[in-house]
Amino acid sequence: MEKQGFSNEFMRARLFSPGPTPTPLRSQLSALVASPYHRSQEFSEAFQQCRTGLHTFFGAKEAPLLLNCSGTGGMEACVQNLTAAGDEVLVIRAGRFGDRWARMAQAYACKVNILDVPWGKAVTIEAILSALEKSPKTKAVFLQSTETSTGVYQAVEHLAPKIKHLHPDLLIIVDAISSFIAHELKMEEWQIDCVVAASQKALNVAPGLAFVALSELARRNISTRPKFYFDFKHERQEQQQGFAAWTPSSPLIYALQENLKLLCALGPQQLSKHHQILATAMQKGVHALGLALFPKDSPTHALSVVSLPEHCDGNLLLAHFEKKYRASFAQGQEQLKGKVIRIAHMGMTDPMDLLASMAILEFGLKDFGWDFTLGTGISAMMSSLASDA
Ligand SMILES: *Cc1c(COP(=O)(O)O)cnc(C)c1O
Repeated sequence: MEKQGFSNEFMRARLFSPGPTPTPLRSQLSALVASPYHRSQEFSEAFQQCRTGLHTFFGAKEAPLLLNCSGTGGMEACVQNLTAAGDEVLVIRAGRFGDRWARMAQAYACKVNILDVPWGKAVTIEAILSALEKSPKTKAVFLQSTETSTGVYQAVEHLAPKIKHLHPDLLIIVDAISSFIAHELKMEEWQIDCVVAASQKALNVAPGLAFVALSELARRNISTRPKFYFDFKHERQEQQQGFAAWTPSSPLIYALQENLKLLCALGPQQLSKHHQILATAMQKGVHALGLALFPKDSPTHALSVVSLPEHCDGNLLLAHFEKKYRASFAQGQEQLKGKVIRIAHMGMTDPMDLLASMAILEFGLKDFGWDFTLGTGISAMMSSLASDA
């Protein structure tokens, strides 16, 4: 049968999900080596280079611990190591990932107070301080810097110092898994005690590594709760000698080592600026199409969560993008299912990837009957990128 239109057989698969993100060919090739002996000097060097490279982006006194697990495993390790059963903790629940902190802390028998923030909003310092005033025995506060389900950035640089001013002994534990690198992070300066990041977001490495940086206060507060595989004290001892406590995933370490060369050469400031420029261009493109971003407060620079037209079923649209344009965007989660589309622009996203994501968005919306002139979003996006060039 003769086909209408262009052939999408030639179309490259494109990944715009907020984790996993595309992995550069160079780092894929670095991962293609025979497994090294994990206690060899050679492997230790790669491992240490990863810790040192990552250290650049945490703004912490000590280099982070590298753990073999996805981001959620890193989060769980924090709950396990930094709380004890019966501890009172405060969880900021501004979306699906905030809920994950809450369920984890409950699973570890903490007394969990939840501060619910409407989806699309950022938590306020007043709300946090008033929750802490009601529960003066609170040992730790858990939150996300970027809540990936809503696309909101919660300004930990303002929140953390204000919390610490009144509650210096309380631990502030931040899931920066999707913010990492997209937003600058200065743990020591902002008085954050623990930050989790992961390989499959802005580091453009396959899923499977989590990174946890600890402040001195956090290190002094490692709990005596039973633990084995994720034991921060043991890991820290080993990693300071240049080795992981258990056999690390060497392909991921080599891929990370490769990507960090470029990321470190650019540095945290330039990379956060890059992400800000991409996020702004995406926001302008989306608005030019007559669509709105879902976040009501401070949209993150790591991804854009776009509200879809009322008549448009997001799940069908996403399936259409996959089938016709070979593009993977992320769907809305829970209450946002079918209502939004989440477009990542984190890590090594280049401006041409960004334009491709907009072109595909426009094609798909047109296919679904949204009324606008093709190229409107692209044009706004290009102007924005050009003005920042
Ligand atoms: C991706 C992500 C996670 C981690 O999820 P995993 O699938 O376990 O890697 C956790 N928190 C946030 C905010 C995320 O964006």
